[in-house]
Amino acid sequence: MRCPDPVQLEALVDGELPADRAAGVTRHLEECPACATQVRRIRQLVALLRQRSVPVLDELEVAQLVESVRRKAEVKRRLTFAAWRRSLVAASLVLALGTGALTWYRLNSPGRRPVAPDAFALALLHEHRRYEVALGAAADLGFNVQVAVLGQ
Ligand SMILES: [Zn+2]
Repeated sequence: MRCPDPVQLEALVDGELPADRAAGVTRHLEECPACATQVRRIRQLVALLRQRSVPVLDELEVAQLVESVRRKAEVKRRLTFAAWRRSLVAASLVLALGTGALTWYRLNSPGRRPVAPDAFALALLHEHRRYEVALGAAADLGFNVQVAVLGQ
């Protein structure tokens, strides 16, 4: 007799094979160590599954599960925010340098009188404030979009 397929071996363990077929497979097991081992494994698995009933979550456990998922989402949101802040600081720095260079160039471009250092500083401060306000608004908008996308 050829080796029965795994489905038939499972059916034998579950007592779902017709009697004549079951007798044939059982005879095969006596002369085929491979199938005998397979059936032993299936029996062990079935016994294990009977011992361990499927866990049923009570209301508290469900609440804890939901809370745990919520906390993980919150941590993810914070990490995203931190990354966002970091890139914002970097952008601010680039902007400060850029604004400084631009302002200096505008005030000192050829044909203009050189400006006093404090006039330059004041102009720089003014320019930079303007960009920062714009950058801040963009950052808020971006962050709100991220929060919305993460879906809280
Ligand atoms: Zn076999």
